[in-house]
Amino acid sequence: MNTVFPTPEGGTLLVAGSDAAFPVRRVYCVGRNYADHAREMGDSGREPPFFFAKPGDAVLSIADGEVGTMPYPPRTQDLHHEIELVAALGSGGRDLTAEQAAACVWGYAIGLDMTRRDLQGAAKKSGRPWEVGKAFDHSAPIGPVHPIAATGALSQGRIALTVNGQERQVGDLSDMIWSVPEALAYLSTLFELKAGDLVFTGTPAGVGAVVPGDLLEGTIEGLGALQVRIGA
Ligand code: MN
Repeated sequence: MNTVFPTPEGGTLLVAGSDAAFPVRRVYCVGRNYADHAREMGDSGREPPFFFAKPGDAVLSIADGEVGTMPYPPRTQDLHHEIELVAALGSGGRDLTAEQAAACVWGYAIGLDMTRRDLQGAAKKSGRPWEVGKAFDHSAPIGPVHPIAATGALSQGRIALTVNGQERQVGDLSDMIWSVPEALAYLSTLFELKAGDLVFTGTPAGVGAVVPGDLLEGTIEGLGALQVRIGA
């Protein structure tokens, strides 16, 4: 097809143990999905899941064993880390049951839902959208996708983040308020899910600020480690 300029490149992720790439369509994120983080952000109890999104080209693909660099984003003084399990979908649909949603998961990756917390906070306060806080360029550093065929379904296991070797966040996937299949099923009532969609599944407590030069290392049992240096 003729296009008026070259088709913009979308995001792609690496696939563990393969030369094939995982093409990214959309990036959805679940808010407040671990009780301790929900409490630190002011929630109580099992409230319905809520969602926001990042552009597909906000992903920053980082190889296994590589230290990726995330440029410090503009217009913030309070860049926060949120370590999250990312579900990568190989198929989709609408109004899925949890069981059907579980079958859409092609693999998992370690991701960081990087957040300009000052801009997000100002948006919340004035009832404005969250994009400026959440959906900026390079806001989604993500490691290789590990096929579910190799990992099995992940419903428990340690998830943690260190900054310069110091533990900041730690939790267990079993602490999620809404499991991955439940969150995907709920999401599928709002949007038709499709192959290439990524879903960030929420972060455990301990979110905090990073500054240029900091080294972040996220780990999830069964998925290895994701290393990101905050650039200038
Ligand atoms: Mn998050």
